[in-house]
Amino acid sequence: MNTKNIIIAGTVFFIALSMWLFMSLLKPEEPFERAMLSFRFDDAYACQREALALLDEHGLKATIYCITDFVGTPGYMSWDEIQALAKMAHEIGSHTATHNPLAILLPSRIEEELRISKQMLLEKNITSTSFAWPYGLSIFGRENIIRKYYDNAIDYPWVRRFRLNGNSQGKYALMSSAPKSADEFIAYLNIAIRKKMWLIACFHRIDGHGGRFIISHEDFSIIIRHAAEMQRKGFVDIVTVSEGAKRLKQ
Ligand SMILES: [Zn+2]
Repeated sequence: MNTKNIIIAGTVFFIALSMWLFMSLLKPEEPFERAMLSFRFDDAYACQREALALLDEHGLKATIYCITDFVGTPGYMSWDEIQALAKMAHEIGSHTATHNPLAILLPSRIEEELRISKQMLLEKNITSTSFAWPYGLSIFGRENIIRKYYDNAIDYPWVRRFRLNGNSQGKYALMSSAPKSADEFIAYLNIAIRKKMWLIACFHRIDGHGGRFIISHEDFSIIIRHAAEMQRKGFVDIVTVSEGAKRLKQ
C-alpha cells in the first residue's frame, strides 16, 4: 500500500468513525419507555423511620435492605418495624446476615451469608428477592451464587459511586447512586428523566447531622416532594428495585 492509499483509507475510517459518533449522539439510547426511580435504604437504620413514614404519606414505595443479624439491635429497626414496612408494600431486600464485605470472602462464606439472611427473612414471613452487596463492593464472577437465592443484586462500584446509574449492566449488577443533597438528587433525576434511565437513589443515615452518606430530614423531604411531583406529571415511575429489575430489557 502506498502512502496515498494509506491516507485515503485513514480519511475514510476517520469520517466513518465521526459519523458513527455523531449518530450515536443524535440518537441517545432510551432504555425504558419512561424514566424510573427507586428509593433504596441501606442497613435498615432506626433513623430511616421518619423518611419511610414520609414516603407512606405520599403513597410511595421503597426497597429496604436489612442486615438480618442487626435487626432489633441498638440503632437499627426492629423486626416488628420491618414487618410493618412489608405490610405497607415496601420491598424488603437482603443486605447479608452480618454485613461482611463479601468481595473478600470465599464462595462458601458468601453463600452462607446469602442463605442465612434469606432464611431469617422467610422466618419473618418476608420473601426477599433483591440483594445489596455490603459497602457496595461486588465481585465479578459470583453471579451464580446470588442467582440461587435472589432475582437481582445491586452495588455501587467505587469509581462510579456518585454517578447516575443506568440499566446497561443487567439485573445482577444494578448500579446505585448515593446523592449527598436534594440538589444533587434533583440533578440526577433530571438526567434520568431526559435519558429515560433508571435512577436507584441510595440513602443511609437520615438524621440532619451532615457528612458523608448522611442526608438531612429537610433535604429528604424536598427529595420526596420533588419525586412525587415528577411522578404526578408523568415524567417518572417510582418503583421498588424488584419492579424495576423486571422491566430491564434482557
Ligand atoms: Zn450497608
